[in-house]
Parts: sequence; C-alpha cells; structure tokens
Amino acid sequence: MIYFDKVTKLYGNSAALEDINFSIEPGEFISIVGHSGAGKTTLMKMLLAEERPTSGDVFFQSANIHDVSRNTLNQIRRRIGTIFQDFRLLPYKTAYENIAFAMEAAGRTDEEIYSDVPHVLELVDLGDKLNHFPHQLSGGEQQRVAIARAIVNQPDVIMADEPTGNLDPVNTFEVIQILKKVNDLGTTVILTTHNKGVIDSLKKRVITMDRGRIIRDDKEGVYVL
Ligand code: ADP
Repeated sequence: MIYFDKVTKLYGNSAALEDINFSIEPGEFISIVGHSGAGKTTLMKMLLAEERPTSGDVFFQSANIHDVSRNTLNQIRRRIGTIFQDFRLLPYKTAYENIAFAMEAAGRTDEEIYSDVPHVLELVDLGDKLNHFPHQLSGGEQQRVAIARAIVNQPDVIMADEPTGNLDPVNTFEVIQILKKVNDLGTTVILTTHNKGVIDSLKKRVITMDRGRIIRDDKEGVYVL
C-alpha cells in the first residue's frame, strides 16, 4: 500500500536518502530507527510529498504521489494523520476545539463534530479534559490530544515522528499504548524513535537506517544501534 521504489534524495552532493526500497502493508506497525542525520525525517517528508526525490518513486495506494494533481495529493494527505515531537496544538483552542478544527478543515459536518470529538477524546483517555487548553495539560496529555486529532478523520496511516521525544517514561508508555490501540483498530502506524525501550517492547517490524540507507529490516525487530 506504501511503496518506495529506488528512492534517492540528494541535497547538493550528499545523499539524505540512497536507493531506498521497501513497502508497508495495510495494518502494519513499523518503526524507523537511526542516528540523527540518518534520513528518517526526509523519508517521512517523501511520503507526504513535502520533498521530491532526486530519483525513484513513492507510491501510496498505487498512486505515484510525486506525479498526481494537487487535488489528488491533498486527498492522499488526508489519508495520513501526522504526530510530531512538539505536539503542534493550537495554543488558544481547547482540546475539543483543536480536534473540531481538524474536522472542519476536512469538511465534516457540525453533527459529526459534536458526536465524534468526545468519542475520540475518550479513546485517548481524556474524556474529562475536553475543555482544557494545551497549557493546562501535561506533555503526555497534549500528545494524546494530538493523537486524537490525527485519528479523528479516520486516516489509513498514522505517521508519528519522534512522538515521545519530549515525554517522560510513564507518558512515553501511555502514548505508545495508544498508538498500539490505534493500530489494533486497523490503522497503519509508522513511528520514528530513538527510544530503545519502546522498540524492544513493541516487537514489531523495525527498519534501521544509517547515512541515508536501510541497513536492516527486521520483522520483529530490536534496537541494534
Ligand atoms: P534524521 O531525521 O534521521 O535525523 P534527516 O532526514 O533530517 O535525518 O537528514 C538526513 C540528512 O539530510 C542529514 O545529513 C541532513 O543534514 C540532510 N538534510 C536534511 N534536510 C536538508 C535540507 N533541507 N537541506 C540540506 N540538507 C538536508
């Protein structure tokens, strides 16, 4: 369903990605690990078509995402929910409003917003904090709001780029548990992380990158760097 075909990305003379080939099946939970500068973020950007490959192709559900109309690309991007290390919530909106805003942007109706926002906040165990602003929430809670926002429009894929990078071990555990739950409900999850404990406890597929190349692709991987 996601397929990287001989993808190379050069910045000047240096390769951020070099001959990347792999595919991800629907429903997989895949982690991408590698030292800083290994190419993980560039890989994620390729998938959102925020950057163009120097050579090679990226396919999403059989569409070559660097070769589709702007309209189709926007539709594809709506199939991918994103979560980042720094949460990226709107500071002057409550948890409820942050999620409602994402639904409005996707053209959902007021009735859908009214019924789905409390439901998705329940799913991330924040049913009692829907009127809290981000500054009234802990880092872990803010990240759970961000997960709720990412999943509310029922994407096929969740892309989580270092989602636990700012969190303590307890909150890291909770965020990973929620991502597992989202995956169990059928959504593909792509996670980048530096956290060895997370990788070793997941027991899911791990792609290890080094200097722009995939050096390992393990079905039930452990963190080997
Ligand atoms: P990671 O996410 O694994 O830390 P990145 O994908 O951010 O790695 O970066 C991979 C390599 O590409 C690094 O050497 C980085 O310096 C380089 N790079 C990333 N983005 C740019 C850019 N916009 N311009 C030039 N070099 C870049």
